[in-house]
Amino acid sequence: MEKYYQPEIECASVEQIKAWQNEKIVKQVKHVYENVPYYRNLMEEKGVTPDDIKSVDDIYKLPFLTKADLRDAYPYGLLAKPLSDCVRIQSTSGTTGKRVVAFYTQHDVDLWEECCARAIVAVGGTEEDVCQVAYGYGLFTGGPGLNGGSHKVGCLTLPMSSGNTERQIDFMRDLRSTILCCTPSYAHYIGETLHEMGLSADDIHLKAGIFGAEPWTEEMRRNIEKMLGIKAYDIYGLTETSGPGVSFECSAQSGMHINEDHFYAEIIDPDTGEVLPEGEKGELVFTSLDKEAFPLLRYRTRDICILRREKCSCGRTHIKMCKPMGRSDDMLIIRGVNVFPSQIETVLLKEGYAANYQIVVDRVGSTDTFDVYVEVTEDQFSDTVRELTAMERKLADAMKTMLGINPKVHLVEPKSIVRSEGKAKRVIDNRKLHD
Ligand code: ADP
Ligand code: ZN
Repeated sequence: MEKYYQPEIECASVEQIKAWQNEKIVKQVKHVYENVPYYRNLMEEKGVTPDDIKSVDDIYKLPFLTKADLRDAYPYGLLAKPLSDCVRIQSTSGTTGKRVVAFYTQHDVDLWEECCARAIVAVGGTEEDVCQVAYGYGLFTGGPGLNGGSHKVGCLTLPMSSGNTERQIDFMRDLRSTILCCTPSYAHYIGETLHEMGLSADDIHLKAGIFGAEPWTEEMRRNIEKMLGIKAYDIYGLTETSGPGVSFECSAQSGMHINEDHFYAEIIDPDTGEVLPEGEKGELVFTSLDKEAFPLLRYRTRDICILRREKCSCGRTHIKMCKPMGRSDDMLIIRGVNVFPSQIETVLLKEGYAANYQIVVDRVGSTDTFDVYVEVTEDQFSDTVRELTAMERKLADAMKTMLGINPKVHLVEPKSIVRSEGKAKRVIDNRKLHD
């Protein structure tokens, strides 16, 4: 039977959700206008005042915030509460460019941890569970967020942080961990290490995993589920909106419910800024409805996504987002063609390879070079050179079919591509160095 952390909120009627949002947005805009001169200026430039915002239907009138604004305003420019009211700072992992810092009051920490608690209960977590948190702890939001959620649910929390993979597995076995939280690439690495240690899914007690903070494919999900003998669930979030838990997957495993009582989501056309109707693909934009210290309004995530409100078998009513299809800035343009790393991953897993790969792009003269390094297994590696060359060609053909351009595929020795304990670095674009 489906369990909820806050059933009255998670299964509220759509009208009720909308009523909460309308009430909160009016207060929030006023709070930001009065306390954040940076955003007040943006509103004035656009000729909007708090009086123009009577409900979430008026949100389109507000100016956007972008990562560039966060950098401009670094460190205190978007703070809406006195520092003496704040109890925590977290920072982005800096996957793209300079870090940004976010501030939290105790209310903000509670709200964030509650969102993570909803995610843990949605995968079947109760106070009977041992929740192993193998996201990084520290400034990165993954560890602290899930740690807090796990406490709220009452799980026995194992704050492992990432790294030291054999020790992760030893603890997992000795303390009978039932829920694992980490990045999908690290879950995959833990799975590989388990098998290298001569163990299998039968030797551990995990039942579910909550994996997020980076894009991952359905193929990767199936691989991890098989290796660890679990159900693997997605979780999404970003430091700017608090951290993981903005949305999470339920038993349906078909998209993530956005915690709409706290975050209002829009999809916009990234080029024009126009709001797109439900079901269309575009850039995801979030407004935090009741965060106090760092309440971003209309923050452009650069994540490309689709929103759908549909009746979900889990009973939750909150709108669902699909897996982000890469960031708009994750997209590589190689020889004029748009390439997302997730497309390469899909091909690899379909063709029977593991998701250990790296994409290297460079420019020679005026032509882009496009190399994909793919690790083979010990078994495959013992094949003859002729067989390996044929495998490279087959893989390159499959990628050409998916992408429309031809990469040069290099099969490399097992274990030669560096493993990630946090977010994987899949792309090395050397072209930027020449700018
Ligand atoms: P950084 O921008 O430095 O990576 P964060 O650590 O806050 O900062 O990462 C937030 C970003 O991580 C999101 O905007 C999104 O691109 C990515 N992300 C988080 N969760 C997921 C997920 N479940 N699937 C795909 N991408 C995700
Ligand atoms: Zn659901």
